[in-house]
Parts: sequence; structure tokens; C-alpha cells
Amino acid sequence: MPVWCCRCSLAGHFRNYSDTETEGEIFNSLVQYFGDNLGQKVKAMPLVEETSLLEDSSVTLPVVVIGNGPSGICLSYMLSGYRPYLSSEAIHPNAILHSKLEEGRHLSIVDQDLEYLSEGLEGRSSNPVAVLFDTLLHPDADFGYDYPSVLHWKLEQHHYIPHLVLGKGPPGGAWHNMEGSMLTISFGNWMELPGLKFKDWVSSKRRNLKGDRVMPEEIARYYKHYVKVMGLQKNFRENTYITSVSRLYRDQGEGDGQDRNISTQHLQIEKSKLIKRNWEIRGYQRVADGSHVPFCLFAENVALATGTLDSPAHLEIEGEDLPFVFHSMPEFGAAIGKGKLRGKADPVLIVGSGLTAADAVLCAYNNNIPVIHVFRRRVTDPSLIFKQLPKKLYPEYHKVYHMMCTQSYSVDSTLLSAYTSFPEHHVLSFKPDMKCILQSISGLKKIFKLSAAVVLIGSHPNLSFLKEQGCYLGHNSSQPITCKTNPVEIDAYTYECVKEANLFALGPLVGDNFVRFLKGGALGVTRCLATRQKKKHLFVERGGGDGIA
Ligand SMILES: Cc1cc2nc3c(=O)[nH]c(=O)nc-3n(C[C@H](O)[C@H](O)[C@H](O)COP(=O)(O)OP(=O)(O)OC[C@H]3O[C@@H](n4cnc5c(N)ncnc54)[C@H](O)[C@@H]3O)c2cc1C
Repeated sequence: MPVWCCRCSLAGHFRNYSDTETEGEIFNSLVQYFGDNLGQKVKAMPLVEETSLLEDSSVTLPVVVIGNGPSGICLSYMLSGYRPYLSSEAIHPNAILHSKLEEGRHLSIVDQDLEYLSEGLEGRSSNPVAVLFDTLLHPDADFGYDYPSVLHWKLEQHHYIPHLVLGKGPPGGAWHNMEGSMLTISFGNWMELPGLKFKDWVSSKRRNLKGDRVMPEEIARYYKHYVKVMGLQKNFRENTYITSVSRLYRDQGEGDGQDRNISTQHLQIEKSKLIKRNWEIRGYQRVADGSHVPFCLFAENVALATGTLDSPAHLEIEGEDLPFVFHSMPEFGAAIGKGKLRGKADPVLIVGSGLTAADAVLCAYNNNIPVIHVFRRRVTDPSLIFKQLPKKLYPEYHKVYHMMCTQSYSVDSTLLSAYTSFPEHHVLSFKPDMKCILQSISGLKKIFKLSAAVVLIGSHPNLSFLKEQGCYLGHNSSQPITCKTNPVEIDAYTYECVKEANLFALGPLVGDNFVRFLKGGALGVTRCLATRQKKKHLFVERGGGDGIA
């Protein structure tokens, strides 16, 4: 992605960071500046002259969050000072956890020892804080109970940590790009964020909630509404694309000594500041007329909440970039919506055996478009997702699975039906004449003429704005980050990257692909930053050294 240079002279708009000003005051002037200028055709977002990186006049934000999906929103909520306490009447069904909660009743969960509270808990996340927060918000949900949360939330403004949340689209992240006709896998209340019940919000919009699964579009609207009612809007900047995040400053002894792109003398100058400009964040904002306004910000901490849906996985085969080959449901949905596939006799090829591929099958099927469905696995493979979904709750996915099992291609069949599955097959290539070549596990090849092809075999995060595409942050630093097999390696309780101090990651990037569990990341990061801020203030109040935290 291109990186824009920011050479406007806005640095003078910002005051020096002095002892008499709080971070909040500085941030408010920053917010006001953003507010006054964004949306107008300004030459650049606030920001700071490229040449003045080491001058005192620029403002450094304590936290910049990249990504404005549920992870970024939940983190913003907690950084804004919302604090969870044990409700006075609540009794957690786990007696041991309940007695631990009783011990710290006077403290918010953010101020308690998360390792102690999460000890011994089990759940469907490998991150202990995610399991802890989930059981506090949805006690015993995995046993089929719908108990209310044992927490109640208070806004404690003195805990506010200034931050900005940047994202490509409106608040809600991936939920704004999902196909409208499908239902969520989770129940509506599992996707809700703290302090606003999804059911309450939905019942204020429509009279009855039919079933527990909901439309993604409804969840997306709920997230947008949430940001508004919780008063988080001033922290959010939409239509904002981050193109580079680079480290400017490291504490002595931290890291491997590489990447020191500023001199020792400059490091000393930096050290004399209360807030360190650890990170330089560059990008652009798309404004109303479609033009791109570049910006550059500095932050002491960066939280990665970018999800893992930005780069659809490719088959990496010949012809995959031909125009009739799509890699996402929105692209396929748009082609259907525009009537491009109406009345076509040739089938659509759908590749993949996950739920998104199943959504595409249903979408084609419901629009009377013949389908050939190709996947590598056996239909009896126990790891197929359909095997994990109860039939009663997910009838549409079981309908697809039934067709996958019972309507397979056989050498005798001369004609394709409305749906034909090709288990244990893969695509060899796509041809410009809209043909594709399939190969079975035994090596047999078949050629089909298509009206379109949709490859839905998963997606990867796009961390191209980080050095080494962020690979160095993973458990296996020679491989790209993936939600399932190579998540970002974090400290289990702070969510700080093991390989990079002051860089945090949450959500699918650390293996928590469900909204239920990504909220734990917001708790871990907030606790870590709040604790560090408290230590810093204590140190400054006691007149410690040069004021470096
Ligand atoms: C089809 C489908 C169905 C799903 N169903 C469910 C379900 O039923 N229940 C459930 O719990 N989960 C479900 N999920 C998973 C769910 O989408 C994720 O758990 C959740 O959205 C992750 O939230 P997040 O905030 O971490 O990331 P996201 O929601 O992915 O948001 C991250 C945002 O950051 C933006 N971003 C990335 N890079 C940059 C950049 N460089 N600059 C600026 N912005 C950037 C992205 O564009 C994105 O908008 C589903 C996912 C899909 C694809």
C-alpha cells in the first residue's frame, strides 16, 4: 500500500505537553482539532510534520487502536473509564469463582488479579482472560443456560485513557461486510458488548425477536449504535486506512537492537518526555469527495484489533485472477444482485467446505443458479464444521451438508443437477474461456464451463503495515499470522505482544474468533495500561527522576 508523506504545518496547533496539562486535556484539544478539520477538505489530518518527528511540539496519544470492529469498540469502552463490578445480588454458578469475586467485591474486575480469578476455569478459548470475562458476562453459557451477567458497569471518568480507534469502515468492522441474507452462527446476546443488552436494543427496533440467531446487518447496526450511546464517538475515525506502523523508540535493553532508526542523542531527547513516542502511525483518510488525506500520528501504545478477514485466501493456481473468479461473499452477492448470473445455464463453481462456502451454496440455490461444489475433504471428515452444529439450531447448514453427502458427482452422471458436490477434489486451473479443470484425489481430471467461480477457503489478516507483515509477532515467526494455526503470541494476562513491548493484540489475531471471547482482550489490555498509568502517576507525584515512566 502506498505511504503518503505528511508535510503540512499543523504541528504548531498543538501545545507542548507540560506538567500542568493532563493527558485528557491534550487529547481534548486533539479531538477538537480532528473534529474541526475532518470532513473538510484539509490538506492533511492533524498531525505532525514529517520533519518535526523529534521536536517537542507534537502530541503523542497514549493509545491508538487499529481496527473498529467489536474488539476495538470494546477496548474503547473500557479505556473510556467504564468499569465492571460484581452486582450486589449476583451469585456466580461457579462457587470457587464466586468466593474469589466476593473477596474483591469493592474493586472493579480491572483492578483485580486476573490470573487468580481465571485460575482453573475452562472454556472454548485458549486465552484465560477471555474465558474469565465470558463466564462473568454469560455464566455457564456452554451448558445451555442464559443466566444474566454477574457484572454491572460504572462510568469512572478519572480512569479515562485517551485513545483513538481507526478503521476502514463504520464502527462494527467485519459485520458491515457480511452477506445480508444469512443468519449468525451465534445467538444475538453472545455478540453483545458490555452494558447494552442486544435484546433490549433489538426490542426497541422491532417488536419480536424470532429465534436467537440474528442477521449480521442487525449486529452491525447495534455496534454503530453502541458507539453512539456509550459516548465513544469522539474516539472513532472511520474511513481511515493505516499503511504503516513503525517503532521509533525502544527502552534501552528492550528488543534486539535492530530498527534503531534514530540517533542516541535523539533518544535522550525523547527520554526526557513524559509520554514516549514509541510508535509512528501513518495512513490516509478517505473523505467525502473520494480523495485521500494522508496523516501521521504518534502513540505510546498501539493495539491491533484488525481481525483476520481482510485478505481472502487464494488457491494460488493459474487463472485465479480472471474476472469471473470471486473471493468473497459480498462480490458474489453483488454479481447476483446485478443480475449477472440470471438465466445462465452454466453452473457456478463454489470452492470450500466451511460455513461461508455453505452460505454461497444457499445463496446460489435460492437464486436458481446451478452449483458445482468442490472441496478437498471427505464428507465423513469429523472436523467438518457441520458436524459440530446442532441440526435443530442450524437447519440451513445441515441442508447443505445433506446435499454435499447425497448429491455427489459420479462418473455415470452425464448431466449436472441444480447442485452437485465434488468431495476430495481440487481446482487445477481456470481458463479465460470460463472453463475450469478439476482433479480428484485419484488424479482423474474433469473440465467444466462455468458462469462464475467463488473461492471461499478462509482469509488471513492483513498486517502489511507492520515490519515483516507482522509475521515476527506470531508463535511461529517464519509464517504469516492466522487465527487458528499461528496467532500473535501475547502475554496471557496483558495481551501485550511477547516480541514487541507496547504493542497489544486482541480478537481473531490472538485466536479469539468469536465475539464472546474477544472481549477478554479488552479487559487484559485495559488492566495492563491502567496499572502502568497508575505507576507512572505515582512515580511523577513522588518527584521521581526525569519523569520517565
Ligand atoms: C461470515 C461470517 C460469520 C460470522 N459469524 C459469527 C458469529 O455468528 N458469531 C461470532 O461471534 N463471530 C462470527 N464471525 C466472526 C466475527 O466476524 C469476528 O469474531 C469479529 O468480527 C472480530 O472482531 P474484530 O473487531 O477483532 O475484527 P473485525 O470485525 O474483523 O474488525 C476489524 C476491522 O479493522 C479493519 N482494518 C483492518 N486493517 C486495517 C487497516 N490497515 N487500517 C484500518 N482498518 C483496518 C478491518 O477492515 C475491519 O473492519 C463471523 C465471521 C464471518 C466472516
